[in-house]
Amino acid sequence: MTARQESRTQVGIVGAGPAGLVLATLLARAGIDSVVLEARSRAYVQARVRAGVLEAPTVDLLREAGVAGRLDREGMPHTGISLRFAETPGGPAEDHRIDFADLVGRGITVYGQQEVVKDLLADRIDDAGLPVEFEVSGVEIHDVTTDAPSITYTAADGTAHRLRCDVVAGCDGFHGTARSVVAPEIVERVYPFGWLGVLAQAAPTTDELVYSHHDNGFALYSMRSPEVTRLYLQVPPDTEAGSWSEARIWDELQTRLACDGFTLNEGELLEKPSVTGMRSMVASPMRHGRLFLAGDAAHIVPPTGAKGMNLAIADVRVLAEAVERFYRDGDERGFDDYSATCLRRVWRAEHFSWFMTSMLHRFDSSTEAGDPFGVGLQRSQLRYTVTSRAAATSLAENYVGLPHGAV
Ligand SMILES: Cc1cc2nc3c(=O)[nH]c(=O)nc-3n(C[C@H](O)[C@H](O)[C@H](O)COP(=O)(O)OP(=O)(O)OC[C@H]3O[C@@H](n4cnc5c(N)ncnc54)[C@H](O)[C@@H]3O)c2cc1C
Repeated sequence: MTARQESRTQVGIVGAGPAGLVLATLLARAGIDSVVLEARSRAYVQARVRAGVLEAPTVDLLREAGVAGRLDREGMPHTGISLRFAETPGGPAEDHRIDFADLVGRGITVYGQQEVVKDLLADRIDDAGLPVEFEVSGVEIHDVTTDAPSITYTAADGTAHRLRCDVVAGCDGFHGTARSVVAPEIVERVYPFGWLGVLAQAAPTTDELVYSHHDNGFALYSMRSPEVTRLYLQVPPDTEAGSWSEARIWDELQTRLACDGFTLNEGELLEKPSVTGMRSMVASPMRHGRLFLAGDAAHIVPPTGAKGMNLAIADVRVLAEAVERFYRDGDERGFDDYSATCLRRVWRAEHFSWFMTSMLHRFDSSTEAGDPFGVGLQRSQLRYTVTSRAAATSLAENYVGLPHGAV
């Protein structure tokens, strides 16, 4: 048997999603070495279509880190969203704009998660020549309660490795392994529906996202570029994406998004439709010894609030600052505070995502009548949100993103 190859870095990062890559970037800017280990290929992680809404504080952070050149050129700044709903069941839907710029003086930027990942990988690998090891397998994290943890793994070429480090960041997403090493308490809520998502070669017909509350269920109209729309339909959670024909998807989108003066452009589907389950999950604490969880490894939000990727990036900002303090001053207080600091923002995002999900989806589709009391509450909340400046401001400041460190 060949011996394990041994190497050393300061911070070992498992996972090259937004959390792992932003952390590696912030550490590099602070002169701290890291190695990123990723189970998939570079092509795969660069093509994985997921989130698309960047909060204002996320954009600020990417700019400060010097990785927002293309984001600033190609990202689409939005200063509001529309809530679309009918005053009465079965009545005509109307749009009600939530004007972020007027209410909170900031906006969001629509820019695909895979574009953020591409920019971060280009910066790290192509420009700086720093290490990301793709297609690793068998990752195991060791000795996290000592000051000399390590990560063992098999590299893409089949060789066995041990990476010694001072700190391990578990940025390996919801299905990763780092969370089991921390063994946190998990609290969760699973919603009785999923989202069927399609990406279409069709020019957006509005400049902003439309969140539509409809008797048939929720629909979201969003976009990824001036030529590509991203659309979602609420569906039962066990739906097979392949069981919906293209014609049925477009019919249902036309029905749920119908509104006077609005045209839904149809176009070729650019990838197979997929169904995402809707859940909320929080793991706490997010730290065990020298192992720190960040992003989806520690928490999941339903996508209605567009918070998943933003939270992942907010976590690693806190972690990067703690690591910097440790190397600069030998001070571990940032490590001690990490979990509590992150969890305050996590719970704010969990609440906002739950609020948006609860206000917009049909909850009881088991009977034709559904849940008239629940629907009455939803319509009341929607009306209040679009008629009260205080309620609209609350939605706007959460959607645009509270400043890092504010909660
Ligand atoms: C289908 C889908 C649609 C979504 N849509 C939205 C949306 O519209 N808006 C929104 O805000 N959020 C959305 N999200 C959530 C958002 O994409 C996530 O919150 C975000 O990706 C979290 O980033 P992360 O870096 O924590 O995790 P990930 O992006 O999941 O990255 C984790 C990385 O770790 C790697 N990995 C896993 N296990 C191992 C291992 N053992 N060894 C090495 N590497 C490993 C994975 O391959 C992956 O590259 C969506 C998620 C999904 C799944």
